[in-house]
Amino acid sequence: MSNWEYAPAPESRDIANLKPAYRMFVDGKFVEGSGEPLKTVNPATEEVLAEVSTASKADVDTAVKAARRAYDRVWGRMPGAERAKYIFRIARLVQERSRELAVLESLDNGKPIKESRDVDVPTAAAHFFYHAGWADKLGYAGFGPDPRPLGVAGQVIPWNFPLLMASWKIAPALACGNTVVLKPAETTPLTALVLAEICQQAELPPGVVNILPGAGDVGSELVNHAGVDKVAFTGSTEVGKLIQRSLAGSGKKMTMELGGKAANIVFDDAPLDQAVEGIVNGIFFNQGHVCCAGSRLLVQESIADELLAKLRTRVATLRVGDSLDKNTDVGAINSRAQLEKIQELAAAGEAEGAQRWTSPVPVPDKGFFFPPTVFSDVQQSMRIAREEIFGPVLSVLTFRTPDEAVAKANNTPYGLSAGIWTEKGSRILWAAQRMRAGVVWANTFNRFDPTAPFGGYQESGFGREGGRAGLEAYLDV
Ligand code: NDP
Repeated sequence: MSNWEYAPAPESRDIANLKPAYRMFVDGKFVEGSGEPLKTVNPATEEVLAEVSTASKADVDTAVKAARRAYDRVWGRMPGAERAKYIFRIARLVQERSRELAVLESLDNGKPIKESRDVDVPTAAAHFFYHAGWADKLGYAGFGPDPRPLGVAGQVIPWNFPLLMASWKIAPALACGNTVVLKPAETTPLTALVLAEICQQAELPPGVVNILPGAGDVGSELVNHAGVDKVAFTGSTEVGKLIQRSLAGSGKKMTMELGGKAANIVFDDAPLDQAVEGIVNGIFFNQGHVCCAGSRLLVQESIADELLAKLRTRVATLRVGDSLDKNTDVGAINSRAQLEKIQELAAAGEAEGAQRWTSPVPVPDKGFFFPPTVFSDVQQSMRIAREEIFGPVLSVLTFRTPDEAVAKANNTPYGLSAGIWTEKGSRILWAAQRMRAGVVWANTFNRFDPTAPFGGYQESGFGREGGRAGLEAYLDV
């Protein structure tokens, strides 16, 4: 261990162009919503960043009607090659304004600037670039010679990847010829509203994209609105089930990307140092606020002690703190409510008899922070092995045989992702075939690419986003 200190390396927040007030975006214009305004907070400092107007029921109706008009008159009938030009323009503008977006995202969400800068914003741009490329080639996607769009998409997204989730939802919808009304999460509305500015800058026709900040009630109004043809939701399994219940029989096409409790399996022949990096990335990236986080580590018993020792040494080096510092590895927990949920589940882990190890790293006094935590001696029945913690908390279980590893990995109501660490290609294929998870990473973790379909099994949801498969969700096929 070294005893030298890192000098502070803060990214300047000026480039975020933070404004005291933000308004919703409807029919190509920023307008005052008639809902109760909300205050969005920097979770790393608890300071209020801005006041944001929110939508009322009437505003949801206005936005859906604007989206319908734009669909009927302009976007739904526009040739794909023309639509592509706008989407390419949005992609380029996201790149041009990438530093502004990254800093704003870190301020509003609490995630480290190195992640918003190197992952969220470039991947958001990549989603627009990729889908722009599809807009004039839908006839070759395998859904017939001229697949038609669905109409108006109502999209509701969570707070863990605010800009990336907005792009992930808007890009395929637009490429396929749909118009959009999107509700960002209550705690992270800002980058979606800058994306709205980018749509204006790209001269996207009014009404093609509408952004309505607000709380869950706005989301509920939106998905239940009779003028919405397609619902795309990312968030908790609980709310996903609620939406499915209320939309049953409505004929609306749905995609649900919900929770997860992914197994990251390390076999005894795995390259251990590489696996440690993958485990760290799997659970501490984005403070563990990742639906596909590798939150259950399954390690072969014969190497468990060695791996855990290496893991603790590595985790102890992760720096927790200021999200705008370029050397920060783990930023702030997005909200007080989420911090309390993590604290409650960690306490339950201890009460149920798991061994708790907390990184000795210093944690700021102000703001919402939780130090990286590893639980060993975890049993499958414990809450920390079953429930989505959505925080920087890893639960470690052991196994003896490959069959046991797969059985334990699949012993979950979820099924979004999984990881396998081994030097044998045959073992990767063997395990991947048996794993009931939408994405299986081999000797890596948390790799995202717009060309790769992403989605879940069981309570992790249904439908795929990304790749050719993701287009289907936005086409009438
Ligand atoms: P939610 O599922 O409540 O939020 C996701 C989005 O849905 C938000 O925009 C939310 O609005 C909105 N929403 C809430 N209620 C409704 C409704 N009835 N109809 C339509 N939209 C609605 O997740 P939370 O933010 O409350 O997080 C709770 C837990 O969910 C986390 O601790 C985590 O375990 C899990 N989660 C999982 C995610 C994943 O990707 N797997 C993402 C986010 C959370 P609002 O912001 O106002 O709540």
